[in-house]
Amino acid sequence: MAKYHLRLAHLYGNLLNTYSDVGNIIALRYYAQQMNADIDVQVISIDDHFDPDHFDLALFGGGQDYEQVVVAKDLPQKRAAIKKFIDDNKPLLAICGGYQLLGHYYIGANGEKIPGLGLLDHYTLSQDHNRFIGDITIKNEENGQEYHGFENHNGRTFLGEGERPLGTVVTGNGNNGEDGTEGAIYKEVYCSYFHGPILTRNGEIAKHLLLTALQNKYPEADLTAAKSLQIKPTF
Ligand code: GLN
Repeated sequence: MAKYHLRLAHLYGNLLNTYSDVGNIIALRYYAQQMNADIDVQVISIDDHFDPDHFDLALFGGGQDYEQVVVAKDLPQKRAAIKKFIDDNKPLLAICGGYQLLGHYYIGANGEKIPGLGLLDHYTLSQDHNRFIGDITIKNEENGQEYHGFENHNGRTFLGEGERPLGTVVTGNGNNGEDGTEGAIYKEVYCSYFHGPILTRNGEIAKHLLLTALQNKYPEADLTAAKSLQIKPTF
């Protein structure tokens, strides 16, 4: 029986789940176990109620434009709840399509403007007859860590106010192929174009998300052992 219990909301997990983004949950469970924690996962999808106080962390995965349009129509009814979750500094991992939908809008590959939540200040344009596909390596300038992944996106994202990139592109395209940034960080929201999935290849990010969730939920707990968890490189 684990000492700590976390609840994860997999936002639209039945619709936004390309390139094995669900593997992020497997990775979180793997590391959580080593921190003496278990994770209860619930998919929150179309018309489901999202209670921000019930959950300790959340995952918002990637998808095709078609599914993004379906999800975009449901987002307004969850906006206030997702905003509260973010404002409470709860960790949210958003990949690719989910990342785009946290921003103002995404212009899909066919030119359709798909409205986002506007909770983070980025926007996403499309590119003609091209996708950014391939291996990518970035460096997080704040902690010096290198992250490895695989990107596959049409969208070109431009960061706005209050956001900083997850890393600087070493090889690959990143947010937009122009400004050398990849992903975004805002409060405890971590956004990225990395599939792979990102957490199986970059356990340090999983560790950070889990520690943040544990510290939020168990402020009195001595988390020294969890903090000292060693992450082995898996790329
Ligand atoms: N449909 C979006 C794009 O092509 C997101 C793709 C994804 O989630 N992999 O940019």
